[in-house]
Amino acid sequence: MIPFNKPYISGEEITNIQDVLVRGKLSGNGIYSKKCENFLETKYGFQKSLLTTSCTDALEMCAILTDIKPGDEIIVPSYTFVSTALAFIREKANIVFADSCSDNPNIDPDKLEALITSKTKAIVPVHYAGVACDMEKILSIADKYQLLVIEDAAQAIDSYYKNKPLGTLGTLSAFSFHETKNVIAGEGGLLVVNDSNFNRRAEVIWEKGTNRAEFFRGEINKYGWVDTGSSFLPSELNAAFLWGQLNVMDAIQQKRLSLWKRYEMNLKPLTQREYFQLGNIPNYATNNAHMFYIVCRNLEERTSLVEWLKKNDVFATFHYLSLHKSEFYHLKHDGRVLPNADRFTDCLLRLPFYTDLSLEEVDYVCTLIDDFYK
Ligand SMILES: *Cc1c(COP(=O)(O)O)cnc(C)c1O
Repeated sequence: MIPFNKPYISGEEITNIQDVLVRGKLSGNGIYSKKCENFLETKYGFQKSLLTTSCTDALEMCAILTDIKPGDEIIVPSYTFVSTALAFIREKANIVFADSCSDNPNIDPDKLEALITSKTKAIVPVHYAGVACDMEKILSIADKYQLLVIEDAAQAIDSYYKNKPLGTLGTLSAFSFHETKNVIAGEGGLLVVNDSNFNRRAEVIWEKGTNRAEFFRGEINKYGWVDTGSSFLPSELNAAFLWGQLNVMDAIQQKRLSLWKRYEMNLKPLTQREYFQLGNIPNYATNNAHMFYIVCRNLEERTSLVEWLKKNDVFATFHYLSLHKSEFYHLKHDGRVLPNADRFTDCLLRLPFYTDLSLEEVDYVCTLIDDFYK
């Protein structure tokens, strides 16, 4: 049996967690939280980062930090995970869904300008599969209209746009350490602040609207309730787990890349027969081997392929149902047709992909796909 996902465990997590138990400080913002934040800030040049309980929470912090108000318009790709839109809907913003590019699921920058009105406040690009959006185009549009760019970099750890780490390009950005991502904490996330004007308020919002972080650094002698916020910081147990992953991150990434390349090598010949397409990685982007997907010719063919694989104990899965057609949002959507998002909804298929997968298993999955098309 080859499952779709299997959380990777390095073995160091349990040692770190035991250390936390011995130290006796289990709540957040302790030694392991700091280790994780410092590591990521140093490795990727983040101006400031804060560990959060999830990427969803990091995105909610972005919405609070940027003072999103009822009626503000936020441009979000329709082909994404709900959290990209949810964080802003909670502040009563109106979501304006953008279509994907025709050759990859990322937001199409050439269609953005037509969506901007006097109420537009932010663009939230999602680096789908860890592959960078066309950030220069997006940032120059944002600059022209004075909009914020908030990166949903949930899938994009260790990935780059023209040599710049993803997560450093927007004013704010959010990463995920959910068990389905490259580096995991069970549930977990990271807020990255690239504009230091947001530093102080980010910490306050993170700690239930109090200035506790400043108090613990000895900068003030008592702490109080100074702003809105929530309990966005994870416990040290989660941070200790995450540290057991970050510490071996290069090995994780190497392994995942070798699996990705094996899939590509096996499946590329089949694309010449035009049964399906592989994900396109533009020249400005790197590949962080977050997932491997193919784009089938139509929904029926994808459905039969999923069934064929399942019959052989291999579990592949489709991805997002476009948000503009969701039960929650379709009535609020302005009715624009988003053909590329619809196509990825119907045709994109994610193949089993996790760090512990073996090259032989990849070969087996590819043989089954080959058999299916024969
Ligand atoms: C995984 C994911 C999220 C949510 O991350 P959580 O840590 O589970 O909250 C948000 N956006 C995208 C694009 C994702 O892939």
